[in-house]
Parts: sequence; structure tokens; C-alpha cells
Amino acid sequence: MKQPFFPCENLTVRDGKLYFAGHDTTALALQYGTPLYLLDEARIRHNCRVYLDAFRSHFPAGSLPLYASKANSNKALYRLMTEEGMGIDVVSPGEIFTAKSAGFDLSRAFFHGNNKTDADIAFAMDCGVGCFVADNEEELCAIEREAAARGKTQNIILRLTPGIDTHTYAAVNTGKVDSKFGSAIETGQAEAITKSALQKPHVKLLGFHCHIGSQVFEEDVFERAAAIMIDFIALMKKTYGFDTTLLNLGGGYGVRYVESDGQIDIPKKIATLAGVINAACAKYAIPVPRICMEPGRSIIADAGLTLYTVGAVKRIPGYKAYVSIDGGMADNPRFALYRSSYTCHTANKMDEEPSLVASLVGRCCESGDIIQENVPFPASVGRGDIVAVCTTGAYNYAMASNYNRLGRPATVILREKDSYVAVRRETFEDLIALDE
Ligand SMILES: *Cc1c(COP(=O)(O)O)cnc(C)c1O
Repeated sequence: MKQPFFPCENLTVRDGKLYFAGHDTTALALQYGTPLYLLDEARIRHNCRVYLDAFRSHFPAGSLPLYASKANSNKALYRLMTEEGMGIDVVSPGEIFTAKSAGFDLSRAFFHGNNKTDADIAFAMDCGVGCFVADNEEELCAIEREAAARGKTQNIILRLTPGIDTHTYAAVNTGKVDSKFGSAIETGQAEAITKSALQKPHVKLLGFHCHIGSQVFEEDVFERAAAIMIDFIALMKKTYGFDTTLLNLGGGYGVRYVESDGQIDIPKKIATLAGVINAACAKYAIPVPRICMEPGRSIIADAGLTLYTVGAVKRIPGYKAYVSIDGGMADNPRFALYRSSYTCHTANKMDEEPSLVASLVGRCCESGDIIQENVPFPASVGRGDIVAVCTTGAYNYAMASNYNRLGRPATVILREKDSYVAVRRETFEDLIALDE
């Protein structure tokens, strides 16, 4: 039998069963029920440390990796981020509230979003969010107003679009000129908003931000983006005498979902990136700013795994076969949204030859409710088997819904020999909690 493919080293097989983070996934399915999101705490910490160590080695003091909350946000994760010394990026008052409730020091938070309402801005300021990432001129004015009303000065950076086109899916490609995010360097809007920010008495401009996309594997896009940003920083120095002290290069390193995906050596990428930044700054004789990056997926994706129980298995003669599970697009809409690839295993039958190719489909009333096409299953797959979908730590729980009034699954965190519920499973009572 061919060795099964595992996208991350936290997956192993013992006695024909799939183990995740050293735990028997079939036992966890029994203990907590399915569908179930699992998170491997050691892997999360490892992924944070990869960034923290590389930042310490290559970037100026005060540089900080920021966990991109939108990938997966709950109080336990913010506690982990505190323990690891990470910063965070947040995009909504809900994420700010969650982080604050977990005791996260919000002076280490960057507040994103292309349309922050006045209420969002006021809330974030009152919570003490350290830095706002101002997206556009109207928002900049609103930040100035709210800061003035509080008699304070708010640290900000400006989100710019460096005009880089990555070849990822259009919905996750954000760094090009034609984007709803940020101000384009190419059109002069970036310079205009910089000038405007420098004239506002209640905002303190620290520097700039760009985010070129997500699930990025291309060789040199971060380096190209950094070079364009430093050209711009040098121009702002020359034009306005402005000293940039912070450059935030966003998130986006790709992770390995399936065997054909590449594998990114993050420390190596960061070393190369630092080389480009240092050389560009030296060329202009400007000091190297503090660097931030905002990894989401590359912190949390491979620390996650979802377990399901198989229900109906349909073999349609002359057509394909379907394996139905007790979850679906309500807990993982990514295939429905982007046709995202995943590695799937039948967790209790790892020693059987996977000779049946079938679509792994959910229980929602939508034909598009598919988790993955062309999944290899053992021919004996049937009701009661446990299916594991790997690498689901990012953008699964975060994108989950109550479609069909399905309660969201629990998130259980695995810590060494123990496991604990980080987010409990939604009950029927939770589903009607808001109904009057
Ligand atoms: C989505 C996003 C991130 C995180 O991206 P990943 O691909 O998960 O690393 C970081 N910064 C911004 C502004 C984003 O929109």
C-alpha cells in the first residue's frame, strides 16, 4: 500500500488509526462527538516561534509578527498569542472584544478593515488598540475626529497597494491597484493620503502597510512588494521629510494542503526579505524601519484538523460515488467558495487500501455543499467511519455559519497528553438564543 500523504508532521498512523498531535483521532471523535475542530497547541506555538525567531534574527528591534485574527479567533488562541509574545491584527470590533476578553494587551493590536464605521473606530480607541491601519481618506478623517474628541493622538499606518498581481484566486488577491483595499502608489493616491495624514494633529503616522494576497507561493512577491514600499518610503522622506518607523508587509505565505502544494521555508524567506529591505534602505540611506508581518494561515492552518462521521455512501452506477458526512459547507465553506484543496483520510481505516474515489459531501441542502472531490476512500467506507480533513485550522471555524440551523462544532485544543474545549459546541438553545 502506498504511504498516505500527510501535509504536516503532526499527523501519524498507529494501529491503523490516524493520530493528530499524538492523539488518536477516533478516540477524540468518540469523546467529543463530530463534527469536531481540533487544534494542535504545540504546532501553533511552533509556527509562532518560527516567525518570532526569524524576526529576532533579521529585523530591527521592535519588529513584530502579528497573528491575523480573521483566520481563527477565540479567547484560547489570544491567550496563546499573549504567551508567545505575538502581536495581532484585528478587523472588527468583535475580534477586538474577543481579544480584550482574553486579556490580550491591545497595544499590540493593529486594526484593519476597508470600512471601519465611526462606532468601530470609537470602540477600538476606547479599548486602547495600539495602531490603526487607515485604509482611505474618509476613514483617516474619522480617526482624526474620534482621536480629537478624546484629546488623544492615535498611532496609525496607511494601507497602500503596491500594484503587485499575485496569481492566487481573485478573491484572495489584494495587492494590485484595482482593489477595494488601500490607496494605490501608482495613482498618486498613496502620496495624497500620506500628505493628509501628516497634516492631522491627532494622528501620528508611523508608516505604511501592504498585503499582497493569501496562499502565496510565488518566489519573490514579498521582496518585490517590500522594494516598492521602500521606494515609496524614500520618496516620502524626500518630499515631506517623513521618517517611516514601521513597515507592515501583511500576511499571505501559503501552506501545504495537498501533496502538489509547495512548501515554504519561512525562516529562509524572511532572511531573503530582510536582505532586500536592508539593501533598499541602504541605497536610499534611510534607517531600516521596524517590520511587521501578519501571518494568519501559516500560523494556524496546519495546526487544525476536522473530524466527521460518515453517514450515507452512494455509488451511482455509471457515475461517481458520494460519501456524506455529518458536517459540510456550514463548518467548511472553502471548497464551495474557492474550490480549495484538502487532504482527507478515513481515520479509523488507515491500513486499508484507498481504492474508492468519491466526492466528500456535506449534509446541507445545496448541491454545492462539497468538502472535496476525488477523495480516495477504502472500499469498505460506510456509516460510522470517521473522516479527517487536514489543515483546517484557518478560515474554517472563522467562516462557519448556522446554515440549515446546524450548530457550529466545538473547537478542542490538544495540549501534550491532554485536550480541552476552547469553544463549546453550539446547542439547540444557542440556535434560538436570539429569537424573540
Ligand atoms: C487575510 C489577511 C492577512 C492574513 O493572511 P494569511 O493568508 O492568512 O496569512 C493578513 N493581513 C491582512 C490585511 C489580511 O487581509
